[in-house]
Amino acid sequence: MGNFSQPERFLVSDLCSILETYLEPEEVQKIYRAYLFGAEAHEGQKRISGEAYIFHPLAVARILADMHMDADSITAALLHDVIEDTSVTQETLAKQFGEDVALLVDGVSKLTNLKFDSKEEAQAANFRKMLLAMARDLRVILVKLADRLHNMRTLSALRPDKKRRIARETLEIYAPIAQRLGMRAIRRELEQLGFEAMYPIRYQVLQAAVKRKKGQRRELMNKVEVAFVKRLEELHISARVHGREKNLWSIYRKMRDKRLSFNEVYDVFAIRMVVADIDTCYRALGAVHTLYKPVPGRFKDYIAIPKANGYQSLHTILFGPHGVPIEVQIRTEAMDRVAEAGIAAHWHYKSGDEYSSAAQQRAHQWARSIMDLQRNSGNALEFLESVKVDLFPDEVYVFTPKGEIMALPRGATGLDFAYAVHTDIGNSCVAIKIDRQLSPLSTPLQSGQTVEVITAPNAAPRSVWLNYAMTAKARHNIRHYLKTIKEHEAIDQGRLLLQKALGEEDVRLDEVAPERMQALLDRWQLTDRDALYREIGLGERIASIAARELLELDQDTAAGDRPFVIHGVEGMVLNFAKCCSPIPGDPIVGVMSPGKGMVIHRTDCSNVRRMGGSDRVIAVEWAEDIEGEFPVNIRVLTANQRGVLAQIAAAISQQRGDITNVTFSERDTMSTNVNFTVNVRNRKHLAEILRQLRSIPEVLKLTRLMG
Ligand code: MN
Repeated sequence: MGNFSQPERFLVSDLCSILETYLEPEEVQKIYRAYLFGAEAHEGQKRISGEAYIFHPLAVARILADMHMDADSITAALLHDVIEDTSVTQETLAKQFGEDVALLVDGVSKLTNLKFDSKEEAQAANFRKMLLAMARDLRVILVKLADRLHNMRTLSALRPDKKRRIARETLEIYAPIAQRLGMRAIRRELEQLGFEAMYPIRYQVLQAAVKRKKGQRRELMNKVEVAFVKRLEELHISARVHGREKNLWSIYRKMRDKRLSFNEVYDVFAIRMVVADIDTCYRALGAVHTLYKPVPGRFKDYIAIPKANGYQSLHTILFGPHGVPIEVQIRTEAMDRVAEAGIAAHWHYKSGDEYSSAAQQRAHQWARSIMDLQRNSGNALEFLESVKVDLFPDEVYVFTPKGEIMALPRGATGLDFAYAVHTDIGNSCVAIKIDRQLSPLSTPLQSGQTVEVITAPNAAPRSVWLNYAMTAKARHNIRHYLKTIKEHEAIDQGRLLLQKALGEEDVRLDEVAPERMQALLDRWQLTDRDALYREIGLGERIASIAARELLELDQDTAAGDRPFVIHGVEGMVLNFAKCCSPIPGDPIVGVMSPGKGMVIHRTDCSNVRRMGGSDRVIAVEWAEDIEGEFPVNIRVLTANQRGVLAQIAAAISQQRGDITNVTFSERDTMSTNVNFTVNVRNRKHLAEILRQLRSIPEVLKLTRLMG
């Protein structure tokens, strides 16, 4: 496997002889029939190179046959361009070769139609995800990768600009997908060909440099290889030993991204040993470690702890002759196959048992087989998390009419899309066009669709929309809108409440002097009376406070000088509850109590919870930019050690906390509880103090106390 180079002309008979080594005769028969069908459908079509078109699908099928892919994938490879380029329909394929093959070919055609145009990195990442999302059957991706690989091999026939576009797409989209699926051999070749087509001159320079370097070191290299082989023979270990070629694209990328010179990147020999079984891997490791000294700390056992994509190998670095470092990888044949073919290797394993054609099940099968490899490694969850993102995405990817990709959660509708584009678009949309077809706003979107929003000037959100908006943004905006249309109701309600509050003082609303009203509006930064009524109506301000302000403004202007600690209760007597000592930043509620004004508690205070849904409990919030200090109680459990109390006190005052009280409790021989009351500005200030305290080794535990 490993190398996909092929002879001048590859014939269907050659394909069949590869297939006969691992498929049933009837399967090979069916594939041969697909070849004849494809050849007839593409009859008369030529590739740009001039050769008959069918040689392209044949070459794609060969790449997959070399990976021992299943019969449906090979069949689909032979037919992968017929829906796109000939008059054959998906229905015909289904009738002739089964639903699975038809779906695979349809999937490949859809991916072929996607064009990647943006230069942006983020777009590339989304595009990769979209490809994976659209291909619910992973075999679609494998056929597509093989298709792309053959197109890259035959790229020289194309115009330079087209060549570069395809090369860039290959480097940014397809090679990373091959990597994600663990398909090293394909990834390596895609990168090599992509690099060559994209940057021909840099490619040549780098290639020449590598060649020179290899020439310089050939003698040394041979010596090392011979030494390895000899030592292994002495120990009766049979192994394939070969030098490893570094990929030019990865050398280039390392030089570019890490700003390294060629010599800094290309500074090690790499040797791979492939042996029969796991046991022999460790024996071979012992053999090389006795031959050359290993570099300490560089040995990695990916056999016991496989990488996330199932990769297994022993890695070590040795001090070679003249101190030249030698990188050695040791693995079994099976591990080598997984390392080169990735997901495709897993397919091969499963090809024996009866398997269901459902796409999902295949993907799960793969995930499960990887999970088996992962079982002992402890990071299976993390791995599945990343697989989920890429292979079972919770997102759909759709295009705007301008070709930008938008990611939405799975199940998102046209309405969600409209709000994702812009709130105003969402608020005024009436319908959507999906791939130019007019559709209702409630239509769920699928990856790859192009979505356009139809708006109308007088359109407005309706409450029924909440039934099919699923993104937080859409739901929030719809609710917000619905709330504002109820505004006039809130205004009526607020006016009534204020009237009632004034009535208790025997004043009617229309008796309030306009100047007083204006002064209050100015103070509370409200635009007009309606705004005041609305805030009262919505429960954001309290009618009795507004009433008192309106009546007392003349006498008690001093109220204006006090810092407003709590938003909306200006002018009211405020107390901070001793039971829970709230400080700015804590979630709080206000409790109206006769003769005491409003008492501020923390939301989680047990006294408040006991009051349940009492209408004396009012939602309040801290004003911004509060000045002042608020007491808070901290319990510190410390080890009994001389001087520790002084350290704690110093730490608190270093953070500008003001200690107002200290008590001791629960002493034992080992530790002491110390309760501090400290004045702090807000939660952030408290956090700074706690952080400082935590840095003292003798401090065992810190608790903020309720009372
Ligand atoms: Mn093709």
